[in-house]
Amino acid sequence: MSRYWSPVVNQLSPYVPGEQPKIDNLVKLNTNENPYGPSPKVIEAINRVTDEGLRLYPDPTASRLRQAVAANHNLQPEQVFIGNGSDEVLAHAFFAFFQQSNPLLFPDITYSFYPVYCGLYNIEYRAVPLAEDYSLRLDDYDTPNGGIIFPNPNAPTGRLLPLSEIETLLIRNTDSVVVVDEAYIDFGGESAARLVNDYPNLLVVQTLSKSRALAGLRIGLAMGQEALIEGLIRVKDSFNSYPIDRLALAAAIASYKDDDYFKKTCQRVIDDRAQVTGELEAMGFQVLPSSANFVFARHPDKDAGTIVAGLRESGVIVRHFKQARIDQFLRITVGTPAQNQSLIEALKSLL
Ligand SMILES: *Cc1c(COP(=O)(O)O)cnc(C)c1O
Repeated sequence: MSRYWSPVVNQLSPYVPGEQPKIDNLVKLNTNENPYGPSPKVIEAINRVTDEGLRLYPDPTASRLRQAVAANHNLQPEQVFIGNGSDEVLAHAFFAFFQQSNPLLFPDITYSFYPVYCGLYNIEYRAVPLAEDYSLRLDDYDTPNGGIIFPNPNAPTGRLLPLSEIETLLIRNTDSVVVVDEAYIDFGGESAARLVNDYPNLLVVQTLSKSRALAGLRIGLAMGQEALIEGLIRVKDSFNSYPIDRLALAAAIASYKDDDYFKKTCQRVIDDRAQVTGELEAMGFQVLPSSANFVFARHPDKDAGTIVAGLRESGVIVRHFKQARIDQFLRITVGTPAQNQSLIEALKSLL
């Protein structure tokens, strides 16, 4: 607290990101980073930009990147918005679309940044409980609302909602914007981007942090019909005209050009997720069906907090949310085969 703060700042409860430890040699399976790193062509593209110099401002419209994303999803560049990480894109979407007289709806168990944006922008919301099996029940969203948002697959559960159900939600809510946060869609789901031309109330948000292994550069995007994208641009240009720097732009474009590398590394993660799931189940864990690059698992006999502390002593870090309904779960990022093996061995000695 400080007497110099604006009243709204006193009221904020900021998001707490997963730990980025300063210690080397940890098996870091706590923030869903990609273990394989970006394509070598991405690194070459960054080097080329540094050779050309960084004296000039970047393209404020990110036009070449918007073209690359649009081509990837069979959309027009005017249907793509680029931001400094999808967290920033989400913040702009909350500001642009969700400040309404009815409450915003999102699941009770979901990305914990959503209520934080509501606090920042004074948006009323209602957390809608997931079903007993942590799936999202469409009928619970059949109520007047000022918008709907959820990750697909959901975080931290990993559960995927089929595209047919997203379509039902869009048809039932033509008066509000439905945001689908697809941070993990490339690990086994189908993007709702192909519904964009049919539904003016759909905004699909993606990030290059997870499947494209560029968390360190901060690149996010949204896809929707031109009117929604224009709304986001109005907010961006009232805030920061140049959110994406030249290195990030070059890297992102190069990433979309190397589709082989992208597909190959995503498939590795998907295969290893099946392996990790099998080994966890063999140790008695209940593992929710995951379409993401992490698994969400609980052990019937051993307290989650105790397991997390034990893993840490063995140099393995995973994420634990001390929140009702999920405080006995661990969220474990799928790492390299060697990292996954370290996790399994550490768990075996703990249990
Ligand atoms: C990781 C994540 C984001 C944020 O991604 P950035 O682009 O790195 O800001 C957004 N939504 C969900 C559900 C995530 O897990």
